[in-house]
Amino acid sequence: MSKVYFKKDRLRYGFLWMLIFAGASYLVSLFEINWLATTLMIFAGLSLITGIFGTNDDTGNSVGIACPKCKVFHPMQSLNDIESTIYLYGETVFRTRKSDGLNIHPFLCLKCKNVTEYASDLNNLSGHAVCGYEYFETKKMTKKNISDAMAFAKLHGHQHIIETLK
Ligand SMILES: [Zn+2]
Repeated sequence: MSKVYFKKDRLRYGFLWMLIFAGASYLVSLFEINWLATTLMIFAGLSLITGIFGTNDDTGNSVGIACPKCKVFHPMQSLNDIESTIYLYGETVFRTRKSDGLNIHPFLCLKCKNVTEYASDLNNLSGHAVCGYEYFETKKMTKKNISDAMAFAKLHGHQHIIETLK
């Protein structure tokens, strides 16, 4: 598996299917096949509901991290190694969500130079987990992110990261 499916993708596909069903419904209504038009409209509604309120079922997937922009998946055991384009450096620079005490960590994507926040959700309690993790905001990396990642790389002797971020 290399591509993964995020909450945003589910929304997008839900919307797309709604449009397809609604369009088809409109077309058959032109031919006055009303029962079919109604059925298609119901499917359009269901697609939207699934898109917005649906949850991800990825119990069959292995645990790992993916960049929501690039969608390249890295299994947990290969993260932070020399080939990995994802760098987890947030051991000490995480924030804690006030409402439930969830720890949210940042990671750096070396491919698109974005920093994404993620939290461990191995049992998919949020319903939005992708391969064991829930994802939050993705932003362009800042000087602060770089210096945090650099500090982490120096601490752990990740020479390839030091070279890349220099
Ligand atoms: Zn990326």
